[in-house]
Amino acid sequence: MTTSASVPPAPEGAITGDGSVTDRLLDANRVYADAFTDPGMDARPVLKVAVVACMDARIDLHDALGLRLGDCHTIRNAGGVVTDDVIRSLTISQRKLGTSSVVLIHHTNCGLEALTEGFRDELEQEVGQRPAWAVESFRDVEQDVRQSIRRIRTSPFVPHTDDVRGFVFDVRTGLLSEVEGA
Ligand SMILES: [Zn+2]
Repeated sequence: MTTSASVPPAPEGAITGDGSVTDRLLDANRVYADAFTDPGMDARPVLKVAVVACMDARIDLHDALGLRLGDCHTIRNAGGVVTDDVIRSLTISQRKLGTSSVVLIHHTNCGLEALTEGFRDELEQEVGQRPAWAVESFRDVEQDVRQSIRRIRTSPFVPHTDDVRGFVFDVRTGLLSEVEGA
């Protein structure tokens, strides 16, 4: 068994190496740190916003939203769904680090649309233990954005829920569409 994951060809100008993907990342980090200067920032996000988004590799949140270092909290998971752990992060973000707006981002062609809650049965059969977490799969991406917004608005822990908006990112055009009626 090899320990290196299959690595796609690096774009021109990228740092390459013969090691694992992690070694490649570490090489890149040394270059990054060489040019890095301490921005002298506070931990509180400048724009007072938390962005909750799917972990999908095709979404570059900072570029897509014109965000810069220090601007926002980014909270990502499979689907960008509002789980208890997202509520935990939002609670800390708002109560301890001064954010008051939330932007939710789901996207077209999400891997969660191809899953069902039956994934938990598969896991149980394979490893003999049923996961405690829900898969949070969905069929209607806009409906799932609405549900995510509702979970934030109804949480007793999240104090600022006036400015919570949800969007679907189109992975082919790069455009966000706002989900209405939440
Ligand atoms: Zn996704």
